Amino acid sequence: MKIYVTRKIPQSGIDKLVAKGHEVDVSQKDGVLTREELLAALKQKPYDAVLCLLTDKIDKEVFEAVPTAKIFANYAVGFDNINLNDAKEKGVMITNTPGVLTETVAEHAFALILSITRRIAEADKFTKAGNFHGWGPMMLLGNDVSRKTLGIIGLGRIGSRVAYHAVKGFDMKIFYYDVKRDENFEKEYGVDSTGSPRAQFASVEDVLKNSDFVSIHVPLLPETKHLISAEKLKMMKPSAYLVNTSRGSIIDEVALVEALKNKIIKGAALDVFENEPALAPGLAELENIIITPHIASATEETRSKMSEIAAANIIAVLDGQAPPNPVLQK
Ligand code: NAD
Repeated sequence: MKIYVTRKIPQSGIDKLVAKGHEVDVSQKDGVLTREELLAALKQKPYDAVLCLLTDKIDKEVFEAVPTAKIFANYAVGFDNINLNDAKEKGVMITNTPGVLTETVAEHAFALILSITRRIAEADKFTKAGNFHGWGPMMLLGNDVSRKTLGIIGLGRIGSRVAYHAVKGFDMKIFYYDVKRDENFEKEYGVDSTGSPRAQFASVEDVLKNSDFVSIHVPLLPETKHLISAEKLKMMKPSAYLVNTSRGSIIDEVALVEALKNKIIKGAALDVFENEPALAPGLAELENIIITPHIASATEETRSKMSEIAAANIIAVLDGQAPPNPVLQK
């Protein structure tokens, strides 16, 4: 059968599709297809399946451009780029790539936590610029992570893995907020030497008020858009750091720039942005922020696994079977 892939991805998944006898066309553009390019590409052949990326906006018009496609396999765990109502209406199966990127994204979140508090990017720039003239007792002071409190907003696969590193590796205390409480998670971490729980469920407000670091892991939904607003930023400690590896629009980015300028919070580390690839005005000029270009899942190992999982979802659907990772059942 015929499959269209909207951008070059690691070869391992493509090889699986080809090994099953499918014909695979991969976009030759070194970049995100524009709307017009995507629609034109999908109209080239009667494709049976599409492997798309989080940078592709998928809606009714796209489904109508390729009415033969039974499945759109998203190369991401998040699927806020896809209009699920339109997919349902058109009877198109949507799948994602959960699980395989959990550890990788959690590692990136932790890399951001350590980098912002220990001023790694700033120190690197300082040293490479030739400003290191010898050890200094007051030079580039940061803050410790060990035994501090980490707030987790969204205790799913990635959020709980970040909590694992925090508790096991840094003896941190966890305050978490989620739509559902996870008592097993709380039991797993028990109490510390003073008898107080290592992991506590709390309202979003209490997570923000009590944490030294806040790490965001909820999906982007209408309810989570601007969950971290100007008002919520004011609830955080002035000494606290905010980290986001989920989706940009969960934070009001303009409000964050103001909060960082006015030292409402001490710093932020972001992998995701509201209007990617654009950054809110003033964001990149701030000194108390670290930004990475949406690379939290970007390891050779994980990106290959994501390619294979997306392929496995397509293979299953084209074989008339249920895919391993459905987002929307027909
Ligand atoms: P998950 O579904 O396992 O976890 C999400 C958690 O959020 C769940 O526990 C869920 O109950 C909770 N939640 C949902 N709606 C909520 C709400 N309104 N309020 C509070 N909690 C709510 O997902 P995951 O695999 O941990 O991934 C989380 C997100 O990370 C994805 O949705 C994706 O957007 C993002 N992500 C980003 C990157 C990156 O490259 N930066 C990579 C992978 C995933």
